[in-house]
Amino acid sequence: MSQSNNTQKNRNDKNRSGQNQLNYVLSYLIFAFLCMWLFQQFIIKPITVRETEITYSEFKSKIKSKEVSDVLLGEYRIVGMMKNPNATSAEDEKIPFTTVAMPNGDPTLIELLDENGINYTISEPANPLGSIILGYLIPLLFFGVIWYLISRQVEKSGGSFGGLGGIMSIGQSKATEVKPEDVNVTFKDVGGADEAIEELQDIIQFLKEPEQFSKLGGRIPKGVLLVGPPGTGKTLLAKATAGEAHVPFFETSGSEFVEMFVGVGAARVRNLFDQARKVAPAIIFIDEIDAIGQSRVGPGRFGSNDEREQTLNQLLSEIDGFKSDKGKPVIIMAATNRPEILDPALLRAGRFDRQVTVSIPDLIGRKQILQIHSKNIKLDPSFDLDRAARMTPGFSGADLANVMNEAALLAARRNGNSVNMDDFELAIERIVAGLEKKTRVMNEKERTAVAYHESGHALIGEIVPNGDPVAKVSIVPRGRGALGYTMQMPTEDRYLMTQSELEDKIAVLLGGRAAESIIFNEISTGAADDIKKATELARRMVTEFGMSEKLGVVRYATPQYQFLESYETAAVASPETLKLIDEEVQRILDEQFKRVINLLNENRDALESLTKLLLEKETISGEEVKEAIAKQRIKEPAIV
Ligand code: ADP
Ligand code: ZN
Repeated sequence: MSQSNNTQKNRNDKNRSGQNQLNYVLSYLIFAFLCMWLFQQFIIKPITVRETEITYSEFKSKIKSKEVSDVLLGEYRIVGMMKNPNATSAEDEKIPFTTVAMPNGDPTLIELLDENGINYTISEPANPLGSIILGYLIPLLFFGVIWYLISRQVEKSGGSFGGLGGIMSIGQSKATEVKPEDVNVTFKDVGGADEAIEELQDIIQFLKEPEQFSKLGGRIPKGVLLVGPPGTGKTLLAKATAGEAHVPFFETSGSEFVEMFVGVGAARVRNLFDQARKVAPAIIFIDEIDAIGQSRVGPGRFGSNDEREQTLNQLLSEIDGFKSDKGKPVIIMAATNRPEILDPALLRAGRFDRQVTVSIPDLIGRKQILQIHSKNIKLDPSFDLDRAARMTPGFSGADLANVMNEAALLAARRNGNSVNMDDFELAIERIVAGLEKKTRVMNEKERTAVAYHESGHALIGEIVPNGDPVAKVSIVPRGRGALGYTMQMPTEDRYLMTQSELEDKIAVLLGGRAAESIIFNEISTGAADDIKKATELARRMVTEFGMSEKLGVVRYATPQYQFLESYETAAVASPETLKLIDEEVQRILDEQFKRVINLLNENRDALESLTKLLLEKETISGEEVKEAIAKQRIKEPAIV
């Protein structure tokens, strides 16, 4: 919880600093233009407009009366000296004058000047750029130089230069540096990641004693790619690596390098590595590397993206540049959930050539993580970590941290002095299904329908030979559209499932719909999610697991994303095969649905008593389910 508040705060700070940057740039520009205007008004104009302006005819008559001298004939203007009509002393007897020249030259003018014996010069055609250079370019240059000087100053001092710091830091990396003494996590704080930790051992050794490491012939590591779904502790692992090796840790995210202006991202990468090299040995961690490292070719990319490309190239050259400083290594660790979309250049030898997979924790891992996150929480003596871990299959490390935190909050709210199992269960429900919607009132008919639906799931879960034991059934409406739920608790984590186990899973999923259809002779929309899940499972059986006799042991699927929990699969096959796949999926679902209908009809009494209990108590435990159906239930014999 506090973790997410922190990131929220960081994000706000970042937004604010971006806003400030814009403000500074704008005010600098306004200031510069104001200065230029003043310069024009008071410096340039007085120089050029000192002369007394006279008309052309006046000029001609003054020639005739020999009142002018030293005439300079320009292309656009004529200047010279004329007799001051209101002279007071000898010094201001003559004053400069100016008049507009005739556009294409006056052929009679020269004659007139000659006739009256006035000396004149013809100026070279004036360069119209002259006044622009004088009036605008010089001030512009001046402001450019000032900008440059300040930004150098800021860079040197490594911080902000008064209020102007913001504008100068556009090209600076926003990574936060954590000093070795402040990296307060070690591998002890990471649960369920023993394999990943094992793989990171030689990185630590290398950071600690680089010379020793290369003397022993170890291949010098450079980049480590941490691959895994969000919240599995990739950031935590990277930070703990820094903690173990006792080196500074730079944390940033790929998205921070993606900017609108070409070159900014690259400048930030350069800046980040410069910073890290200064304090090397060090670790740089880049979260969501896909933001910059996405493949330059391939689907989903159209056109080129100069900025991203420049940033990526800069990153590559910085990684390659490490060779020079062997004694003071900088290790770069990056996290992604989709390594397959990364640019192959990133994965080449000598770059991110080491991949460490971090996955959703298993039962033992979950227990360790819960233990870590309950260190500062007072647990009731009756609290069963083992059971807690079994109740949270599929939870990531971050989810578990959240649940533990929520449980502590709930315990505090009921003024308890320690966290017990009930708090924990309630916390799971909150995290999984959203907060209880206390205000939502279901009418009696709806409530009954939901009760039969959930009883159907629970009963089938108990009847089928491979069903996971039911832990809890509820008809208390929750957020996210779930009207009720049946929670099953696997006794162990499964890595392999047999065909009959998968069929049983589908049967349990269809149990809700089947119960509704038997009881009411009418069906509702309440089973949409169940049907989706069941269909997905059946499709995978056919296209991925080779469990259909008609289609044989052939893979027809291409998973789009490696780590997504629900596979969106697209079958690659001929139209006839696609049709066959659809038929097979339908057959599996039909068979299971018929089986479930039969089972429920045979166990109608059990279904009724379970529903009655559920309507009465709203939420019932696994034991209560077993009790309610004990007398009537006929367990389907397992097919061995
Ligand atoms: P990721 O970078 O993979 O998205 P994080 O490292 O940011 O995940 O995890 C967020 C938080 O979740 C961590 O700060 C930690 O509190 C908790 N967490 C995640 N995985 C673990 C783990 N394996 N062991 C202990 N805590 C974990
Ligand atoms: Zn359901």
